[in-house]
Amino acid sequence: MTIHRHILIFFITLFFYTHLNAKELPFETFTDRFIESFWEYQPDWAIFNGYYKHDTKVIIPNAANQKAYRQFLAQHLTALRQYSVADLSSSQQSDYYIIENLLLKGIWYHDELQSGTWAPNVYNVGSVIGLILNTPYKSLEDRLKVIYQRLMQVPAYYAAAQANITQPTKEHTQLAIDQNQGTYNLFNKNLPESLEKSQLDKEWKNKIKKANDKAQSAVKSYITFLEKTQKDLEKNGAREFRLGKALYDKKFKLEIFSGFSAEEVYQRAVKEKERAHKEMAVLAQKIWPNYFPKKSFPQDTLVGIKTLIDEMAKKHVAREQFVAEIQRQIPILAKFVDEKQLLDQDPTKPLVVRATPEYQRGIAGASINAPGPYDAAANTYYNVTPLDHYTPEQAESYLREYNHWILQILNIHEAIPGHYTQLLHSNRSKSLTKSLFGNGAMIEGWAVYSERMMLENGYGNHDPELWFMYYKWNLRVIINTILDYQVHVLGMKKSDGLNLLMNEGFQERTEAEGKWRRVTLTQVQLTSYFTGYAEIYKFREELKAEQGEKFDLKSFHNTFLSYGSSPVPIIIELMRK
Ligand code: ZN
Ligand code: ZN
Repeated sequence: MTIHRHILIFFITLFFYTHLNAKELPFETFTDRFIESFWEYQPDWAIFNGYYKHDTKVIIPNAANQKAYRQFLAQHLTALRQYSVADLSSSQQSDYYIIENLLLKGIWYHDELQSGTWAPNVYNVGSVIGLILNTPYKSLEDRLKVIYQRLMQVPAYYAAAQANITQPTKEHTQLAIDQNQGTYNLFNKNLPESLEKSQLDKEWKNKIKKANDKAQSAVKSYITFLEKTQKDLEKNGAREFRLGKALYDKKFKLEIFSGFSAEEVYQRAVKEKERAHKEMAVLAQKIWPNYFPKKSFPQDTLVGIKTLIDEMAKKHVAREQFVAEIQRQIPILAKFVDEKQLLDQDPTKPLVVRATPEYQRGIAGASINAPGPYDAAANTYYNVTPLDHYTPEQAESYLREYNHWILQILNIHEAIPGHYTQLLHSNRSKSLTKSLFGNGAMIEGWAVYSERMMLENGYGNHDPELWFMYYKWNLRVIINTILDYQVHVLGMKKSDGLNLLMNEGFQERTEAEGKWRRVTLTQVQLTSYFTGYAEIYKFREELKAEQGEKFDLKSFHNTFLSYGSSPVPIIIELMRK
């Protein structure tokens, strides 16, 4: 028996190493195969990236599946590490580190973070089914058949989910109740409506209806379980939503992939906040008479700044002009970037500004909608949600937020030379790894960096009012970082958090309340914008100091962006070579 088992293990190992022998596989083949098999374990994630091969597959979150995934990750980590980094091209090196990071993160999530035991919101079948229902990658009839396969697995899915939840937080339990209620509505309303519209025959319609009924009761009983759990938590105490230092530091390291530690970033953010306040105070005194010619500047500087922001925010575009104004600004930004020789652009791939399609409209806003790597459609859209459905009060508050100055900074961030331009450069490197698993701190950090870089190079003619509003905007990412660390590591209370956001970040109460909610539900992610920005900025300043006269901003930007969405420390390492 023992001998047999040993032989078996030996054979499995042998098979495995033959199968994945790095020396026989070119690195590109290894990464392609890795991604192909990764999607078998992450079919939902695949669908969000436009990869539909496993669209009927639901991973039941039971122990056996979790263990199998853990093994998959560990085996590929071993296989990956058979490659010698020094032998790879620089683009491959960066892919190597991105995949290594993805694997290490997955293993750590499984072994230590274990959010499946405390965050009941990770269990939800609705978003993927909703996406399949709304994405015409095949006919409605075929998609309903796919959904049928998924519906059949929903009861087993929620049974396994429920068994995993051992120590939930109140905050994540509430979120799970709300979000699964949305799933219930999808099954109860949207799905039957689509089914009715479809050309499926009676038999199919009945089959799907039955499966839908069972799925609905499974969601309902999960919600009931959570509501009961919530009552127990109120009575007997719950797990703290704050992550604590040990887990936070590790999550920061794996998720942000920074050259700084979490604490270093926090310290930098605190310094930046003080600097921003100082700069704003100077600018505010200068601008004040333009808006309040007969009043003197208040004793309390922060109060003065806030008063000025409120007054200036009245200058904004009319609600029906919102989309058109964004359209008007994009070519102006492109022209400025060319004239100032800031970086390369690609006039053959212009950005299309459009009103957000109905099915994508959630909350109002503006964002870049880029085709995924599996998507043949080549257009990148700048989706802007028109304010049509807003009450006059809602529209006014939104427009005050995206006032005359902030709207320009938003366009820099989202479009040129922010996300859209970065994406153009990134697409040139044609790495599936980078486009799928690109580093969030790099992507957001670049967009935040580009705002400041544009102003430094004279966008807006060094107008003190634009700089003043820029700092107000920039304080948002600075304070996100401070808040996240203070809450999760230092135990900050809600009242102190709101005070920070409103009195030091000059935010409205609703915005501050929303941010507080977000910090209770996520960890580390709020720091990504500032971390990437701080690292890029610091690196640029170092190079400038080292190279003196020889430093060329345009070639710095082009080279920096040529590595795709790699983690900033990897780009720095490769550029230093
Ligand atoms: Zn107004
Ligand atoms: Zn962004």
